Amino acid sequence: MRKYTYDYLIVGSGLFGSTFAQIMNGNGKKCLVIDKRGHTGGNIYTKEENDIKIHWYGAHIFHTDNEEVWHYINKFTKFNNYINSPLAYSEGKLYNLPFNMNTFNKLWNVNTPEEAKHKIQEQCSKYKDISQPANLEEQALKLCGDDIYYTFIKEYTEKQWGRDCKDLPSFIIKRLPVRFTYDNNYFNALYQGVPIGGYTEMVNKMLDGIEVNLNVDYLEDRDLWNNIAQTVVYTGPIDAFYKYCFGALQYRSVRFETELLDIPNYQGNAAVNYTDSETPWTRIIEHKWFEFGKNEKGEDIPRTVISRELSSEWKLGDEPYYPVNDDFNNSLYFKYKELSDKERNIIFGGRLAEYKYYDMDAVIAAALDMCEKEL
Ligand code: FAD
Ligand code: UDP
Repeated sequence: MRKYTYDYLIVGSGLFGSTFAQIMNGNGKKCLVIDKRGHTGGNIYTKEENDIKIHWYGAHIFHTDNEEVWHYINKFTKFNNYINSPLAYSEGKLYNLPFNMNTFNKLWNVNTPEEAKHKIQEQCSKYKDISQPANLEEQALKLCGDDIYYTFIKEYTEKQWGRDCKDLPSFIIKRLPVRFTYDNNYFNALYQGVPIGGYTEMVNKMLDGIEVNLNVDYLEDRDLWNNIAQTVVYTGPIDAFYKYCFGALQYRSVRFETELLDIPNYQGNAAVNYTDSETPWTRIIEHKWFEFGKNEKGEDIPRTVISRELSSEWKLGDEPYYPVNDDFNNSLYFKYKELSDKERNIIFGGRLAEYKYYDMDAVIAAALDMCEKEL
């Protein structure tokens, strides 16, 4: 029988690859992790500059109800108690998200849940004949009515996805909760926070004792890599793996315009969404507020770093961010999946290989499941 140098070659040091490698290494398997980027962590990478941990590929707040995942990830970091409570900017005013009594109070001057429900029901009654929403617009109007849809959703969503709300699947909007309490906690999760020390430090602890090669693209020499390991775990884009033989899957990409400002506080909150179509960015992130504006010694940080997020259609060479899970792309993905199901000794996992919007906890859970199957 052929002797391989490694049991597993793991392509990608994101959360899927790092979880898989950590568990397998702990079970005595020899692992090599490679990544085409110059750093570990994939999209959760944080880079420290001027005492501020910059969320390099967009704001990441860990949240989960999954006890197993929470227990697992706490072996590698402690979390602060940051609670995601973004704001929405519309026509000179700031509103709380997710849609809750604070939002309704500012929008309609209502004080009680009864009044707010009445207002929403009044607006939704126009759409009561929509039994099965066919798209995001119908779903949103049925759920929250005209004022909320036209103030906060329509233009933001069209800017974010580059598509008309009538052409987008309704599940995207189900991620946005509506509640009748004065509660600005965006994620209603049992556990929530940001790693103290940053995501990069957390991932590097997961990869402790495991060989990692950076700046290496698996697809440029796949024969070499396939020959050194018994099994390959591939966490890159599935269509790239198959040389786009059925065509490229569509993604939304994001460009970040990041600026260091010589002031201590720019917007007073980590995230502000710009819900109008005139502002080119979807949101501004002020990174220091994920850590309450303090450095590791607990001192106030005198300056601040902000990132404006600009959404664009992905093209070859761009960084893929959000899969566009509409019917066209889902059936294209399925064709690639049929090919991947036939592979022996190659495992496909994570957001790019499965063409799926995965939250961090879900990607850890998927990697843990995969390990269980392998062991
Ligand atoms: P990735 O992190 O993308 O890792 C894949 C790795 O594979 C990358 O490092 C890549 O360089 C490498 N790779 C790809 N191809 C190759 C190749 N050919 N050779 C070598 N290496 C390769 N989740 C939350 O729970 N909370 C949040 O607040 C949150 N915010 C988000 C904000 C944004 C803007 C986005 C886009 C996502 C957010 N997520 C959030 C989701 C989160 O980013 C993902 O769940 C997680 O990063 C997925 O990890 P992964 O390992 O599957 O993929
Ligand atoms: N959304 C919106 N207005 C907002 C924030 C979000 O219409 O102010 C919609 C938009 O369609 C977005 C979806 O809700 O794609 C999910 O938003 P969220 O911020 O939860 O997701 P993220 O972009 O962080 O993945």
